[in-house]
Amino acid sequence: MGDDTRTLAPRAGIDGPTSGLPGAGLPAPVRGPGAAGTAAASAARTVARLKPGLERHAPWVWVNGDFVRTEDLRVHYFTHALHYGSGVFEGIRCYETASSPAVFRLRDHVERLLASARFYGMRLDFGAADLCAAALETVRRNGIGSGYIRPLAFYGEGSIHLTPATGCPTEMMIAVRPFGAYLGDDGLANGVKVILSSWRKFDRSMLPPTVKGCGHYMNSILAAQEAQARGAAEAILLNADGTVAEATGENVFFVKDGVLITNDEVSNILPGITRDTVLTLARDLGIPAQVRAFRPEELFAAAEIFLTGTAAEVTPVAAIDGRSVPAVAGGVAARLQQAYFHCVRGRDLRYARWLSHV
Ligand code: PMP
Repeated sequence: MGDDTRTLAPRAGIDGPTSGLPGAGLPAPVRGPGAAGTAAASAARTVARLKPGLERHAPWVWVNGDFVRTEDLRVHYFTHALHYGSGVFEGIRCYETASSPAVFRLRDHVERLLASARFYGMRLDFGAADLCAAALETVRRNGIGSGYIRPLAFYGEGSIHLTPATGCPTEMMIAVRPFGAYLGDDGLANGVKVILSSWRKFDRSMLPPTVKGCGHYMNSILAAQEAQARGAAEAILLNADGTVAEATGENVFFVKDGVLITNDEVSNILPGITRDTVLTLARDLGIPAQVRAFRPEELFAAAEIFLTGTAAEVTPVAAIDGRSVPAVAGGVAARLQQAYFHCVRGRDLRYARWLSHV
């Protein structure tokens, strides 16, 4: 590690021997009028880089085993995953604690990433221990306290066929960025408006919902766009049979007669690590819970509804399809949200096993 010149796998015979170096293979950018003197120079001027984005999220990204300066990372335009969504990823958080920042349930996220990769026959060059160490080092090197960690494994450049395992290298990167409340501080405190999307959740006979596959998220994107168009923060998707699946990036919980209820894989969900954490916290708080399929009518009648996810944490739902869901002071959602934040910030030593200190 520590070599800042390595980028994604160069393709032998196409990019040439120096293609792994930052800027290699691209004409030098030309600035100022003096540079456009020759025909060759002006032909080269048609080559531009992609819109640069916010490279200042963090200075370093981990790529295939090395640290690269973010502004030096190049991605081939025929990267398989860019065209077909053939990648798998994770979303992980780290939090400030009384000592050092700590990554929450790192090993569980990494294991899920490896399971997602296996599902698509994607062979990674790194095992769970390597990826955990790399994630911690990426957080440390970028000086992130509270932030988001995005490991991404994807098929790179090599073939346009829909069998990438034979022609494309597997690329692996880990990026980090500072990150606050995904659905806003107000959403965490007072709840968010959600809609029931008119888009249905893909069934497990079509794509595996338990796998965190890049292309799977086009379904979530449509539902999220619909939520935004209808003035809501989130959308809940139903299955084709009318039962509730999940939100675009969160699992759904509700409370009925003091019992906490959520669904499972049978309802085409990604079984969230936050969902598992909340079910554990509920058990330890003596809150009774049921795991079963449910329909939207039960949400309309619920005393409380909340969403769980690494990004959204534990976010109450304040309204669903325009029906308000008043907050319950000292209710189940509030107790679980508080317990969750204590847990992730290292204030409850019963859950110290879930923290990997940076
Ligand atoms: N469902 C979907 C579709 C998601 O993208 C996520 C976020 N990873 C979740 C549920 C919640 O999973 P987790 O709690 O592991 O972040």
